[in-house]
Amino acid sequence: MSQTPDIDELTPTTAITILLGGAETTNESKVLMRVGARVGFLWQCVACREASYLERTACSHCGAPRPGAAATD
Ligand SMILES: [Zn+2]
Repeated sequence: MSQTPDIDELTPTTAITILLGGAETTNESKVLMRVGARVGFLWQCVACREASYLERTACSHCGAPRPGAAATD
């Protein structure tokens, strides 16, 4: 990408995606994932600890089901 998107104009989900993509250290990723999870855009896979978006019912990384995805609560 040759252009840096303006975060203010993006949806929070997209903003988190870009921020995660730009995270340079594992610690940065962890912090961003925690923020994403707290505001409700991400969940963390219990198997591989990768962050996935809420609309996914399975981990995009390893395919493990989202905790509570099968439940209808
Ligand atoms: Zn996973």
